[in-house]
Order: sequence, then structure tokens, then C-alpha cells
Amino acid sequence: MSDIRNVNQGLSVKSDHQTPQQTNSRFSTQTDIQSLERNLLNLHQFVNAIAEAVFVINNQGVIEMLNPQMASVLAQPKQNLIGQKWHHLLHENYRSQYQQLTNSWQGRNTLPITHGPAEVVLNRATGGCIEIDLSLSVLPTEICAGERLILGVVHNLSHYKAQYQALRKQAYTDCLTGLANRHHLQESLALIWGESVSNQQPLSLIIIDIDYFKAFNDKYGHVNGDRCLKSIAQVIKAQLPARDCLAARYGGEEFVVLMPRCHLQDAELLAKNIQSAVSRLEFARLGLPASTQVTVSQGVACEFNGQFRTAEALLCAADTALYRAKNEGRNRISLCF
Ligand code: GH3
Ligand code: MG
Ligand code: MG
Repeated sequence: MSDIRNVNQGLSVKSDHQTPQQTNSRFSTQTDIQSLERNLLNLHQFVNAIAEAVFVINNQGVIEMLNPQMASVLAQPKQNLIGQKWHHLLHENYRSQYQQLTNSWQGRNTLPITHGPAEVVLNRATGGCIEIDLSLSVLPTEICAGERLILGVVHNLSHYKAQYQALRKQAYTDCLTGLANRHHLQESLALIWGESVSNQQPLSLIIIDIDYFKAFNDKYGHVNGDRCLKSIAQVIKAQLPARDCLAARYGGEEFVVLMPRCHLQDAELLAKNIQSAVSRLEFARLGLPASTQVTVSQGVACEFNGQFRTAEALLCAADTALYRAKNEGRNRISLCF
């Protein structure tokens, strides 16, 4: 039974956590009790007045007080939360870490004892989780009726996280075609290259370049040129195998497909499928003459067993194969052996 609750219950001031009344030998005089009552009332008022979402837990990790903002973060009525062990609110990935942390504070007496702010995930009553910034501070016993209480301050990060995710997506996406952009490609290539080399798995790469695209723009205009780029991007995406291949817009009218764990023959097959799907594109739906046709040239290279020393060398090899395809007449696939 905690002193704070005993003192509160013995007097008219109540903490949020209601428990049966018991006498308390530590606080014997009326003056002591009145002073503690004032401290608790002040703390209680402070918790309710503060604009941040805050809660107070006792030495056993039981929630003693919280303000309406905190209840709203957890999507639970305040009365359901008072008396709960606070670490039950934490996502399971964080529970033992925070239990250990608050346990490690038990023997320490010299303030300040603080933690955070640190990013943490809480479970919500409505289901799902909420990402927050959490800081914990042990309060001076003078303002806690002699008990060790910990104040938690919470910032709801969900708004920032959503914004961050949206910006991240924007930063990694080609805005015209919706494919990965060059920056995304470069990051992924470095990552997948490292994984493929260390796991001794093949990594194939295709560069796809639209044939005579300048002439297409000149003839049908840039707006239709953009529509054509989008259509070809959709074709490439639709042809990708379900697993973790990446299609990116590499430059103006050039695309790259990364195929981890794929041998040259798999990549060649994909290139053939892309070639054939591009040949079936219908431009009449864009308002262009039904006879309009677009073709692509493709260069394919595959790293396996240390053929290339770097990811750039693999990219260069595919680019060289692409130029061979162009020189040999376009609308074709050239492999780098
Ligand atoms: P090749 O067969 O040798 O590849 O000839 P090409 O005309 O496709 O190649 P070139 O490099 O001469 O021209 C590329 C053209 O791609 C020129 C440029 O106007 C067009 N282009 C690049 N980016 C965009 C874009 O975002 N939108 C549109 N509409 N056109 C673009
Ligand atoms: Mg080009
Ligand atoms: Mg071109």
C-alpha cells in the first residue's frame, strides 16, 4: 500500500487511484498530513493543468495520475488507466527495456534521475499502436508525499510520422511515373549488391531505353511524351516478378530493373516480356493515331561469382549492352556475358 494513497485516503484529498483507507505511521502529526495533502493536491493540479500528455507512476509502475491528454493518447477513459501497470501500455518490444530501466532506478536516490525523450510505441485501446516521444523523470519526494513517483511526459508523434512517411515516399519516387527514382535506385543497388555478394547470389540488372523518343516528343508533343513514359513505366511494373525486384526511372526515358537472386536467363526472360508488352501498347486511348508504336532497347548484365567488382561496373556493363542493342538496330535485347 503506498504512502501517497494512504495519506490521500485518510484525508479529503484523493489521488486518482482509490484504495481502502489505512493508517500510516510515517505521517503521524496533523501538520505532516496537511502538508502532504497540499503537496499531492498541487501535484494532481499540476498534472491536470499541463498542456502535454502526462502521467505519474509509483514505485511499482502503477499509474497514479494522468491528465485527459494522456487518456486521449491511449484512447481509454482515465478511470480505466488509473491503477494499471504502466508497462502493460507499452508495445511488447519496449516492455522489458522499460521495466529494467525503472527497476534500476529503485536503489538510486540522487536526483535528477531522468530518461529520454525517446521514441516508444504504445498500444491503444481502439487497437493498433501509437508512436510517441517519452521522457521519464523521478520527482523529488518532497512533492510526492514521501513516495517515489515518476512523471512521464508524452508527445504524440503520429502526425510527424505520417508526414515523414509521406515526404520519404516523395523523396524516393519518380513523380511522373510513380516508379522508384534514381536516388532510390542507387541506395537499393548498393544494399542489394552487398547482400548478393556476401550471400554469393546472382544479381541481374536491366537498362531499358525508349527508342527514338525525341522524335516521339517532336511528333506528338511533350504532354503525350509524358503519357508514353507513364505507360511504359506501368508495363515494366506489371511485368516484374512478384518478389523483391525494383523498377526505377533512371533518367529521362531510361529505366532500370534490379533483380536480386536472378540469373541472366531470368533477366533475359523479363526483358523479352517487357519488349512484347511494349509492342502491344495502344496509343489510340491517348488520342494518338492507332498506328502509333513505341519500342525499347534493353541491356542486361548479371553479377555472379565475382564477374564485376562493383555495382557501378555492373551498371556500366548493362549500359554497354544497351548501346550495343541501339547500334544493332534498336527494339532488341543485348546481353552482357
Ligand atoms: P535513342 O533511340 O537513341 O534512345 O533516341 P532517343 O531520341 O530516345 O534519345 P535522345 O537521348 O536523343 O532523346 C531522349 C529524349 O527523351 C529527349 C527528351 O526530350 C526526352 N525526354 C527526357 N525526359 C523526358 C520527360 O520527362 N518527358 C518527355 N516528354 N520527354 C522526355
Ligand atoms: Mg536515353
Ligand atoms: Mg532513347
